[in-house]
Parts: sequence; structure tokens; C-alpha cells
Amino acid sequence: MGVVIEDASGIRGEAERVVAPSSPEEAAALLREADETRTPVTVSGAGTGVVGGRCPSSGGWSFSLEKFQRLEIETGVARVGAGVLLRDVMAAAQKTGQFYAPDPTEWSSTIGGNIATNASGSRSFRYGATRRHVRALTVARMDGTVRTYRRGELVDFPYTPLPVPRTTKNTAGYFLPPGVEWVDLFCGSDGTLGVVLEAELLLLPQPKAILSGVVFFPDDELTLAAVEGWRAIAQLRMLEYLDAPSLEFLRARYNDIPREAQAALLVEQELDGLEGDAVDEWLERLDETGALGEASWFGETAADRERFRLFRHTLPELVNDHVRKNGCEKLSSDFAVPLERNGEMLAFYKETLGRLFPGKYTIFGHIGDAHVHVNVLSETVQDFEAGKAWMLEAAKQSVALGGTVSAEHGLGKRKVHFLPLMYTAEQMDSMKNVKRNCDPHWLLGRDTMLVGDSSLGV
Ligand SMILES: Cc1cc2nc3c(=O)[nH]c(=O)nc-3n(C[C@H](O)[C@H](O)[C@H](O)COP(=O)(O)OP(=O)(O)OC[C@H]3O[C@@H](n4cnc5c(N)ncnc54)[C@H](O)[C@@H]3O)c2cc1C
Repeated sequence: MGVVIEDASGIRGEAERVVAPSSPEEAAALLREADETRTPVTVSGAGTGVVGGRCPSSGGWSFSLEKFQRLEIETGVARVGAGVLLRDVMAAAQKTGQFYAPDPTEWSSTIGGNIATNASGSRSFRYGATRRHVRALTVARMDGTVRTYRRGELVDFPYTPLPVPRTTKNTAGYFLPPGVEWVDLFCGSDGTLGVVLEAELLLLPQPKAILSGVVFFPDDELTLAAVEGWRAIAQLRMLEYLDAPSLEFLRARYNDIPREAQAALLVEQELDGLEGDAVDEWLERLDETGALGEASWFGETAADRERFRLFRHTLPELVNDHVRKNGCEKLSSDFAVPLERNGEMLAFYKETLGRLFPGKYTIFGHIGDAHVHVNVLSETVQDFEAGKAWMLEAAKQSVALGGTVSAEHGLGKRKVHFLPLMYTAEQMDSMKNVKRNCDPHWLLGRDTMLVGDSSLGV
């Protein structure tokens, strides 16, 4: 009898065995054994992934990093085991007056999972995705070796470089610009090239003050105009969007959302102190943009920020619960386009969703990065199938606008078929060659990111 492994997507896979090494040597020996016995290995973090990456597709071993729990904080750097939860890194950094900038909404994810998916989130608007904050990685490879790769160490085998989309975030396919560093290649490789055991992460000094707010708007057009105007605000680190259906979901838990609100923007701005003009400037901005100024929420304390973070985080949870209650799997998009194409992509979403799924979708997320998540709220199998067909059309639209088919979640198993929309057959071969170089028998994370290698019968 196998062990069922699932993640937040609702996808389920079965492993013959769960292995949980407690040292780099043990991890390496297990991978060597798997390679020799041709046993598929699927790396597992906390299972908050939304595309089935940690769910085995062909039996084998589920490889857990739960025993890699080192957590040491110094000035400017954290040394973190892959199994440490993001929220523990955040809390430990905070105690020393520092912070870890990437902020994927789900803090119960592991650092290993964040690195594998090149996770990003609301603060990526200012700080970029995980990759930018990794200084070194210790990785166990399928040949049974363990190596620490430091910044600046270039990949030492020949490969054909790939174009990188002009989006601010991307985690679709391997990161292969000319002269790529090992650290950058492993980040975002979705558990298919090696097992991350430990990382050195950059920490930043906490800003002196942070002003945060939830700004409500009476209509969507005003909201989107505000987004374009507010992107340039100095030290703005968060610019998140909630559409009218998203607010409707949240009203079930928050009865103080103004009745006339049809959209909202969540903002955080870092400041050198609160004694300046920042508050007055925000009041002016609200006025100029036609926001519901009086009814909007603003705060300056960590408790306010946490309250607004929970407000934002509650939404995907409510959406996930709703879909599960109807016995359906989650259908959520993760496309991002170049900033100047944001309006066109949103217009596509609204026109097609309004026509095909009236009352059965939400749009929310990282609009500062031209990266929102569309959730199709399936109530029947027919909805789910129609939703999948729509996702494919939307993926094509994103690519046509110069965007990516996955900005932050990775492709996992659910979105593996999107990758050839972005890359030519030759470019796909380039990625497959990289995969073969790191994992010749195609055992690691099988069917995640790339479909199997027919020459190996997988
Ligand atoms: C409510 C909610 C909100 C979310 N919001 C965001 C968001 O804002 N931004 C964002 O980026 N993501 C978000 N996510 C998705 C998810 O939290 C991230 O993808 C996260 O990085 C997954 O980490 P995990 O530890 O749960 O990994 P898992 O789900 O266990 O695994 C994810 C992938 O990483 C691989 N992997 C895990 N550990 C390792 C390792 N040590 N070495 C190599 N490969 C490994 C797995 O094989 C798999 O392919 C959200 C999820 C939920 C449920």
C-alpha cells in the first residue's frame, strides 16, 4: 500500500515510500540508490503548492526535507535548512531588526519549496522573487554528490540559452539566459534538477516605518487608473488588487467592507519615518483618484499590517474552500505580462470571463507586477472542463502579449502543457538537455515542468 501525497491543488499522487534523510550524506546516498535502482523521486515541502509539484506521478519515493531544520540568523544573512517554514524565517529575522523580503502569501510553505518555485508575492513589487535573495544553495544531486553553489558560479556544461520574458516575475521552465549561475538555475526548477538541502538567504534591515492600507474604490476603471499612477510612488512595496467578486467573498468574514466598494487596492509604503508628509500625500492621492477615502483603511503598526495581510490571505482560502465544497479542483491562473500590457490582459479576462462564467470567477493579486490570479469557481464537472479550456486560451493570450504562463506557482503537473506555448521545439529541447545533464534517468520530479523523455520510456 502506497502513501497518498497531495498539495493545495487537490491533485493526489501515491509514493511507495516516504524517505526523510537527516544529513546531507544520507540525502546523497538515497539519491544514488534511487539512481541505481531507477526509482522515481518526488521532493516534498509543506504541500502548499497549487500545481501538484510534490505529488508523485509514478510511484517511487516521496523525499521529505522535514529534518533539515537549521535556522541561523546573522547580519544580512540567514542560513536555513530546506524544511524550515517561511514564517519561522520571518519571525527569526524580525527579532534581529531584519526581514526576508520575498513574501509569498502562504507563510506555512518551506524555504525549499519557495526556492524550487522561485516563489514571490505581494512585496515582489519592490523586491523581486526568491531568486534575487538567495546567496548560496547546498544541493544533493542524482549522482549522489552534495555541493554548495555560491553566487557567481556559472553552470559548467554547454546549453542553448533561452529568452527570458519581459515580465517582472517568471517561473515557467528553466532560467537559462547566457552565462547562468547554478544558484539561479536551481531556483525555479520545481524539484526536477536537484534537491535543495540548505540555503543562504539575504536579509535586509527593517524599514524605519511602513504605512499600509486597503483602499476601496467605487468602480474598476478608477482602480485600474490608480494602479498605473501609483506604480511610481517612491518605496511602494505592495500594490495588490481585489475585484468586486473577491470583495463579495470577503464580506462573509468582514462586515466593515464599504457597501459601495467595487474593488480595492492593498498598499504598503516604506518610509524613513512617519513624521513626514506621507499621510497627507496619501489623502491627496485618494482624493485625486476618486477612491472611497473616508471608508478606506490605513495603519502604521505591525498589527495593522498583519490585519490587512490576513484580510488578503483569507481570500484564496475562501475561494479554495468554495471550490472544494463543490467537489471540484482549484482552477487558478498565474499569468503575468509586461507592465505596459496589463490593461489589455485585464480587458481580455473581463470580456471572456463575463461571457463564459458570469458570477463564477474572481480576479485578485499582484497587479503592481501585471500578475493577477483568476479563479474559475467550478460548481460542476462541466464548469471545470470549460474552465480548463479557458485557461488554455488565456495562456495563449498571455504569451501573445509577451507574458509568461507561470509567474510564481511553477508549472507542476497541472500546467505542464502550457510550456510549449512559450517556447519553440528547439527551446524545449534545450531544457530537456539540461534536465538530462542533471538527472540522466529522468527520475526527479517526473512529469513536473517537463513531460517525460520518450527515449527513456518515461
Ligand atoms: C493560500 C495560498 C496562497 C499562496 N500564495 C502564494 C504567493 O503569493 N506567491 C507564491 O509564489 N506562491 C503562493 N502559493 C503557492 C505555494 O505556497 C508556493 O508555491 C510555495 O513555494 C510552495 O512551498 P511548499 O513548501 O509548500 O512546497 P510543495 O508544495 O511541497 O512543493 C512545491 C514544489 O517544490 C518542490 N520542492 C519542495 N521542496 C524542495 C526542495 N527542498 N528541493 C527541491 N525541490 C523542492 C516540490 O517537488 C514541488 O515541485 C500560495 C498557496 C496557497 C495555498
